Amino acid sequence: MVCTSVKEGYECFFMNKKGCEFNGGTCHTVVEQCEGCQKVKDFPTGKYCLSFPDPASKWRHGNCNMATHLKTASDKGNGKLNPLKASKRRAA
Ligand code: SF4
Repeated sequence: MVCTSVKEGYECFFMNKKGCEFNGGTCHTVVEQCEGCQKVKDFPTGKYCLSFPDPASKWRHGNCNMATHLKTASDKGNGKLNPLKASKRRAA
């Protein structure tokens, strides 16, 4: 159902006719580690995550798996070239 409380207008799994059924009856604001993530949205009631109702719990045991602002080790690459491709490039 569409949220009518803090994330007004957004479809949410926890919303039903009786209201928000999430623990505490409302979403929780983002935490410091969420700064820079594209899932953070400014609402009149504060900054909330569009994916999770409780961002702090996503960071409790390591990095949030949906964060868009973290670089993973594989993104950086190892700086080595594939020798086969390199030799082909040289031959061309
Ligand atoms: S996706 Fe993760 S890092 Fe991004 S705002 Fe939500 S909880 Fe924070």
